[in-house]
Amino acid sequence: MTVNVLFAARAEKWEDYEDPLNAALEAAGIEADLRTEFSPEVVDYIVYAPNSDVQDFTPYTRCKAVLNLWAGVENVVGNDTLTQPLCRMVDDEGLTQGMVEWVVGHTLRMHLGMDLHIHGQDGKWRSYSPPVAQERPVTILGLGALGRACGQALAGLGFPVTGWSRTQKQIDGIRCLSGDAGLAEALQGAQIVVLLLPHTPETENILNGETLAMLPRGAMILNPGRGTLIDDSALLAALEEGHIGHAVLDTFRKEPLPVMHPYWAHEKVTVTPHIASTTRPDTAARVIAENIRRGEAGEPFLHVVDRDAGY
Ligand code: NDP
Repeated sequence: MTVNVLFAARAEKWEDYEDPLNAALEAAGIEADLRTEFSPEVVDYIVYAPNSDVQDFTPYTRCKAVLNLWAGVENVVGNDTLTQPLCRMVDDEGLTQGMVEWVVGHTLRMHLGMDLHIHGQDGKWRSYSPPVAQERPVTILGLGALGRACGQALAGLGFPVTGWSRTQKQIDGIRCLSGDAGLAEALQGAQIVVLLLPHTPETENILNGETLAMLPRGAMILNPGRGTLIDDSALLAALEEGHIGHAVLDTFRKEPLPVMHPYWAHEKVTVTPHIASTTRPDTAARVIAENIRRGEAGEPFLHVVDRDAGY
């Protein structure tokens, strides 16, 4: 029987996804009708981006699952009209690999003090030997699909990696902590902190005046997680005061980051425009097709969001 799949995302995404999704559905052995419009009551699955026109799921009475194109679900998880399972994007080959490269790249940049030489070609022979990775403790807040992969990549380069999550984890090569005491311990020795938490009421402003003060002087911050994880005023104050050495920020409370925002011109801030990692159509299409295959076979869906926890 033909499965009706609604693609509910911005029009420009349809160009990127139409062919990969059709190819992946066919490869998964699913006879599907993939479209950007259907009568809601005949839709079996919704491939979804939260900025699409679909905000009321009530008319989608036959829909078996909503398959989010993105890893973050903060803009849909609280939608009370959504009663179907919500699955988020976890894509090892594309999304995770992209994030590992962004995090490792910026960690090495901070660790090696590359900016000193890139911006310092002024005829002065500066002698500066960075420590080796083994002497540069890195903490990752969030040990999910992305945090774990980034942590293991950094550990593989020799960095002592500590990770912190809501529930206690055991991961090879990473010292795993959890809970409030764990957060303090994770921050106290960290020279580089990577934020890979989702946005939930519990994680909002997790880096604030109090927690920033737990970091050693000169610590550096990478935030590819979500802008809401950081209290911006507290970070700016800590940068001004010299307590924080540098912040590499990929995510912001308001995106695009407003032109007059102090982060843009700050010499101790690097702004990247939410490009740390993106969902790649070819690999993401395979993840979505696999979930539709599971739904049709009566198997449990992958990457189901815990609506109570918010991620
Ligand atoms: P996961 O849901 O797999 O992992 C989230 C992690 O955060 C888990 O380890 C979870 O703990 C932990 N966590 C959640 N709430 C808390 C809390 N209150 N206290 C402590 N730990 C908590 O997410 P991903 O790894 O796939 O992605 C992480 C985030 O990265 C996404 O939510 C998104 O915001 C961001 N992202 C950014 C991109 C970019 O381009 N900038 C691209 C893709 C994602 P536990 O393991 O115990 O559940």
